[in-house]
Amino acid sequence: MASSPAFDVERLAQGIRSGDRTVLSRAITLIESKRADHRSTAAALTQALIGATGKAVRVGITGSPGVGKSTTIDALGAMLTRQGHKVAVLAVDPSSRRTGGSILADKTRMARLATDANAFIRPSPASGTLGGVAAKTRETMLLCEAAGYDVVLVETVGVGQSEIAVADMTDFFLVLVLPGGGDELQGLKKGVVELADMIAINKADGDNLPRAKLTAAEYGAALHILKPASANWSPPVVTYSALKGDGIKALWTHILDHRKKLTASGELAARRGEQQVKWMWAMLEERLFAPLRSDRALKAALPKLEAEVAAGRLAPATAVEKIAEMLEL
Ligand code: GDP
Repeated sequence: MASSPAFDVERLAQGIRSGDRTVLSRAITLIESKRADHRSTAAALTQALIGATGKAVRVGITGSPGVGKSTTIDALGAMLTRQGHKVAVLAVDPSSRRTGGSILADKTRMARLATDANAFIRPSPASGTLGGVAAKTRETMLLCEAAGYDVVLVETVGVGQSEIAVADMTDFFLVLVLPGGGDELQGLKKGVVELADMIAINKADGDNLPRAKLTAAEYGAALHILKPASANWSPPVVTYSALKGDGIKALWTHILDHRKKLTASGELAARRGEQQVKWMWAMLEERLFAPLRSDRALKAALPKLEAEVAAGRLAPATAVEKIAEMLEL
C-alpha cells in the first residue's frame, strides 16, 4: 500500500508540516500500528519528513514513581510554552500493556499542558518489548519535530532498561531524585547516575529543604568520583520544587548551557549521529526477530525445543537448524 486513500503519505506529511494536531495524532497511530502495510507507509512518511526533523531540544526525564515527573514536566512545559516554544511530551513505558494503560505522559497528571494549544501530550505506545516501544517513541518524536515542536520531553520510570533507551534518543538526560534520609544514595543505580547529564532533587520545599540540600551534597560527591562522560560537561546537581516552581527556570538554563557547550565541541552532532545508527540496528533487529514472535507453528514448537535443549537431548545447534527450517531462513 504505497498510498491508500486512508493514509496518503504526501497529505499526511503536509498536514504534519502545517502543525495540524489531528493529522499528527493520526500519523502517530499509523506509526504505532503493527500492520505491515502501515509500517511501510509510516517509513515512507518519516522519510518524507526527514528534512524537517532534528531541530528540537530532546530531553529525557526519569525518576521513580512519585518523584514528581509529571509535576515537573507540567511546570517546565508551561514555562516553555509561555516563552513561545512548542512542547511535545512523550513516554517510554514498556509495562503499560501489562498495567492496561500508560501511567506516563498522562494528560490528567499534567493539567496545565493538557489544555495548552502549544503542547502535545502522547502516552507511551503499548506494544510489548522495550525495543518496539522505544522505536515507536523515536519515530513519534521525529513527527513532532516536523510538526514544529521545538522541545521534546521524553518521560520514563526509573526501573529497568528503559532509561538507557530514553538516554539513547535524547540530547540531555535528566534524573529526578527525592530528598533522602541523608545517609545513602537511595534508589539510584550507579548505571543511571552514569547516564545523567543533570541530577535534580525535587520537593526542595518546606520541611524537606534541609534534606534536599543534604541529598544534593551526597550526589555531588558521588558524581565527583565518576569520570564525566564529556570533557565539556560535568553533570550539575541541583535542588528545586516542581510544586512551587522554584528552580524550574534553572533546570532549563542548565539544559541550554549543555546544548551550547556540546554544540560548540561537536559532541551533540556526534551523539545524534551515533544514535541514528543505533536506531537503525535496533529497528533491524526488531524486524528480524518479528517472525520469531509471530510464526504460529514456531511459537507452538518452541517450548518443546527449549525443553529438549535444556534436558540435553537436543544439541542447541540442531535446534537452531530446526528453527531456521521452520522460518525458511
Ligand atoms: P510522578 O509519579 O513522578 O509523575 O510524580 P507526580 O508528579 O505525580 O508527583 C507525585 C506527588 O508528589 C504528587 O502528590 C505531587 O503533588 C507531589 N509533588 C510533586 N512535586 C512536588 C514538589 O516539588 N514538592 C512537594 N512538596 N510535592 C511535590
